[in-house]
Amino acid sequence: MRCFFLFFILTIFFSQCLSFQIVFTSDLHETLNVDGFGPAGLIEWLSGIDRDKTLVLDGGDLFDSKIQLPFVGDRRSSVLEYVKKVGYDAMVLGNHEYYFSHKWLQEYKKINKSLIGANVQDLEPFRIFDIDGVKIAVIGLTTIQHLANRVEYHNDLPKDPFESLRKVLETLPKVDYIICLNHLQHESDIKILESFPKIDLILSGHDHRGPELKKIQNSYLFEAASHAESIYLIDVDPIKKNVTYEKLKLPTNYILRDNTVGTLLLAGVLIGIFSILWVFF
Ligand SMILES: [Zn+2]
Repeated sequence: MRCFFLFFILTIFFSQCLSFQIVFTSDLHETLNVDGFGPAGLIEWLSGIDRDKTLVLDGGDLFDSKIQLPFVGDRRSSVLEYVKKVGYDAMVLGNHEYYFSHKWLQEYKKINKSLIGANVQDLEPFRIFDIDGVKIAVIGLTTIQHLANRVEYHNDLPKDPFESLRKVLETLPKVDYIICLNHLQHESDIKILESFPKIDLILSGHDHRGPELKKIQNSYLFEAASHAESIYLIDVDPIKKNVTYEKLKLPTNYILRDNTVGTLLLAGVLIGIFSILWVFF
């Protein structure tokens, strides 16, 4: 009886030790601060927690605009500064990251070292993290839906996510827990969990349908909402295969700069000079 009691206590103790947490953001669409709250608050919040026990992940559509007028409303440099300051462990491309130009995307893939993508050219398919001896694989997948300008991106669009995932799982080293970091439609996420029971958890963006946590067979699917609200703290118990989450509402003073005011001022000055020249000469 005493042995059983000791075993019970030890199981609870080790299970607590082995659990880890994930900070997950997704579909931010360049919205880092609304009324003093938003994901930009992560920059400060993360400095107060044990990063060694925490994975910080993003599910794509970090950027937004479909039509990027020259300079006007361009917040990309500000968003890039945020990504660098947060120091994401892994993130995936969303379809919105394809809405600028092929040249920009190639440059973005080079400078953002957090990006992964099993079905995206030039990116690592997965990363393996070790938290207190628990080996966790994070595999990235990007949607093939709503991608812009198929001519410009010819041969450089994401490949079939199912086929890419199948290949990765065939060669993936032995790990204790497998996470798919997806920017995929809800139906594709469900299909992945039904087809690949090895996947323990899918963290997904794209549909903006969350926050929603669903258990499918022995695995979990967590889907995010969008914009400044879309920040979650997810607790994972890899032994009991249990997942819970809470929404984070983080205060921030971070100012998201864009070039709109500067560009409009410059345009105003140029129009003024041109008008004076037109009238007097
Ligand atoms: Zn999307």
